[in-house]
Amino acid sequence: MNKIIESNSMQFNFDNSYQREMDGFYVPSQAEPAPAPRWIKFNRALAEELGLSAEEMDTQEGAEIFAGNILPPGAVPIAQAYAGHQFGNFAPQLGDGRALLLGEVIDRMGMRRDIQLKGSGRTPFSRSGDGKAAIGPMLREYLMGEAMYHLGIPSTRALAVVATGEFVYRESALPGAVLTRVAASHIRIGTFEYFASRNAVESVRRLADYTIRRHYPELIGKPYIEFVRGVVARQAELVARWMCVGFIHGVMNTDNMLLSGETIDYGPCAFLEHYDPATVFSSIDHRGRYAFGNQPAIAQWNLARFAETLLPLLDEDSERPVQLATDAIKLFSDRYENAWLAMMRRKLGLELAEAGDAKLAQEFMDAMQAGQADFILAWRYLADAAESDPAPLRSVFRGNIAKLDEWLPRWQSRLALEKRTAAGIAADMRRVNPYVIPRNHLVEQALEAATSNGDLAPFNRLLEILRDPYTGREEASMYAEPASPEQTANHRTFCGT
Ligand code: AMP
Ligand code: MG
Repeated sequence: MNKIIESNSMQFNFDNSYQREMDGFYVPSQAEPAPAPRWIKFNRALAEELGLSAEEMDTQEGAEIFAGNILPPGAVPIAQAYAGHQFGNFAPQLGDGRALLLGEVIDRMGMRRDIQLKGSGRTPFSRSGDGKAAIGPMLREYLMGEAMYHLGIPSTRALAVVATGEFVYRESALPGAVLTRVAASHIRIGTFEYFASRNAVESVRRLADYTIRRHYPELIGKPYIEFVRGVVARQAELVARWMCVGFIHGVMNTDNMLLSGETIDYGPCAFLEHYDPATVFSSIDHRGRYAFGNQPAIAQWNLARFAETLLPLLDEDSERPVQLATDAIKLFSDRYENAWLAMMRRKLGLELAEAGDAKLAQEFMDAMQAGQADFILAWRYLADAAESDPAPLRSVFRGNIAKLDEWLPRWQSRLALEKRTAAGIAADMRRVNPYVIPRNHLVEQALEAATSNGDLAPFNRLLEILRDPYTGREEASMYAEPASPEQTANHRTFCGT
């Protein structure tokens, strides 16, 4: 007997379109009861956005809900089917092996958002896995999602982390947790691959139509190639944003790329420290497939896998579906370059568009690489250089500074074309070049305190600082500091825990 009961007091505004309309794309499933749910972290701001009463939720009954023990009225838990290319290899059957979609809530802005439990136990897609998650990785996902959101980068977010009161067994026994994830949807490239690889053309069409209605309503009734182009454009924009803040996703498998254009799955992700496009932190990425500088090319590769799933639908619009799809995928480069350049101009303090701007941006980063400069602080202190003080910028160069010194006057003459005040330029630059990001050593320290002593104070402080990444302020200064070289050298991230 499952202990799941229905609660009457918790009002979620559920409207479960995927469950209602997409029969055959999921399996109904239930959470495994957690023996002793206990609150770890609740996202009150997000709860308000979802129209939930933070007061009602931040209770023991709330903990029972977010552990999966109590099913709120209107929730219909399902495990979604998907496949995926993992490190380039196709896995025909992945699916929600440790997650359950409770349903979709229409939020206060009228936006439809998935509410998903992650770590709530086995489902028909679990294969050999236990369906569970440990506190550390779930808090990590919470923190990274919030950091991305406040940086202005589309991302899934966490509503809750609840300890289950039982251990999960990895290399050692770890306290278990369930994370509640909120996403525009969980439709992945891998969701399309699941049905395409089974030659279920009508299913692919249903999924495409559903996804268009939900995420690309402006494309309803248009040829499917427009859908491919729309998805390409949104991913290009997303990855350009990552590249501008030094975000390394770490596991850009096709099952971890959402059609909505949100960032998902904060397993082995980490932020770049000194600029080097070859940077890889993930312990399982032996060949550097998902290295920082490879991310645009990988996104394009993933999008090609997506376009392949739609080939039978393109057939109707054209006699040359492969050519059509190929051209749409090639568009990625333009879309990406344009998005990247627009953002880079703002980072450099430029409003006008001049021919050499992309080169100027790249050469600044080349200078950072030569000087082993911290990526975030180099960009941030460029604003001071715009206001005539290059000293903070120069101070973050640990090695060769000659390239920077050669670059600065060229950038300054380019700035002169702008005909704006230095103070105005610097203020604009600080709005797009963050002062604080979740630095790897700080994330590790916060998670270590939370998991080994149950001390959430460092986690909460870090989270608070990351809610305001663009304002330079004294209280944030210790969070802005780069790691020591030893900390950087040892940084490794681990996936799938
Ligand atoms: P991820 O690495 O989190 O993107 O997950 C890849 C696939 O492995 C997905 O199908 C997950 O549902 C599945 N998975 C990851 N961890 C577990 C687990 N502990 N138990 C069952 N399935 C899992
Ligand atoms: Mg995943």
